[in-house]
Amino acid sequence: MNKINENYLKLGGNYLFAELKKKTEAFQAKHPEADIIRLGIGDVTLPLSPAVIQAMHKAVEEMGDAKTFRGYGPEQGYDFLIRAIIDGEYKSRGIELDMDEVFVSDGSKCDVANIQEIFSRDCKVAICDPVYPVYLDSNIMAGREVVFLPSTCDNGFSPELPDVDVDLIYLCSPNNPTGTVLTRRDLERWVDYATRKGAIILFDSAYSSYIQEPGLPGSIYEIPGAKEVAIEFKSFSKTAGFTGLRCAFTVVPKALGKLNGFWNRRQCTKFNGVSYVVQRAAEAVYSEAGKGETAEMIRYYMGNAAIIREGLGKAGFEVYGGKNAPYIWWKLPSGLDSMNFAAKLLESCQVVGTPGVGFGACGEGYFRLTAFGSRARTEEAVARIMEMEI
Ligand code: PLP
Repeated sequence: MNKINENYLKLGGNYLFAELKKKTEAFQAKHPEADIIRLGIGDVTLPLSPAVIQAMHKAVEEMGDAKTFRGYGPEQGYDFLIRAIIDGEYKSRGIELDMDEVFVSDGSKCDVANIQEIFSRDCKVAICDPVYPVYLDSNIMAGREVVFLPSTCDNGFSPELPDVDVDLIYLCSPNNPTGTVLTRRDLERWVDYATRKGAIILFDSAYSSYIQEPGLPGSIYEIPGAKEVAIEFKSFSKTAGFTGLRCAFTVVPKALGKLNGFWNRRQCTKFNGVSYVVQRAAEAVYSEAGKGETAEMIRYYMGNAAIIREGLGKAGFEVYGGKNAPYIWWKLPSGLDSMNFAAKLLESCQVVGTPGVGFGACGEGYFRLTAFGSRARTEEAVARIMEMEI
């Protein structure tokens, strides 16, 4: 018998979004005439901005000229992009970082999962419930013990501190799927907990560029003492439409001691860097033109979020999120099961959303809609839902 990793047997059958895609495709095959509106998977729909495209064209030309051609780049990312990230993302928030504290990668999805490798196998991991499923699944794969942190409307989707000691804490703010942003006070409480307990916070801030309300933290390093206890993940995917291009970065401060060197060692061994062309594209996100164009994209998606929020609200539903995040967290009328509701929504109005239970047990009774569709399709989806008998 092969010595397989039996932890995989503890996972649910399929990755949530792959499963939903399969179900939608099966419905479409059965009803070829159905005009399905997809507000399920959190993928962007607007094309890349002109500044990003221009930077890529230039980089492609460089790659075609022997004088400017580049082969393998630094595993940590090119200095030009790391500098742009430090200046564009952190200096503006009053946060100082050294060049060797930022690690460019091809996505936060892999980083939030791979980061576990630099921690001991027997770490106890706290994970918010509901949340982006990658944290839980990847920790199950590694065989780690998980402690859930319930986040419901009763605690304002801001989880309480765990009642047992944990070693690692995944926080996601703005949260996927609830759209909640942890306040300064919330984060101070977590930083204080981690400092007292010797725990490390894994802070996933992939949607920070969607924060609209002033005063809400867009980086955990805005909190004093956070550099000693937190690793931060950010991505160009939702900020600038890079879901297909692939570029993100992870900050591992040197104040975390050995972890900075460990992550560097891990990346140098197992990762060969993001392509030069894509890194030039990411750099362009922080140019003057790039910043304006990116802000325009976010405004567009947040306009969709407002349409969904207000439409469902007018129809008398309880809705959360959608103010500082591209997700609307819809509290279903009591007693409705989110999986059955997904099937009902698809059948009766051909709208695809994501059942809350797919993000954790506490997501049962909720439903996630995304603001990443086109304006017209978003309006159409809301109109269809408002006519539906629930
Ligand atoms: N983190 C969260 C909370 C997400 O929702 C997603 C994608 O949906 C990611 C990370 C993945 O980002 P990337 O495209 O950079 O892998």
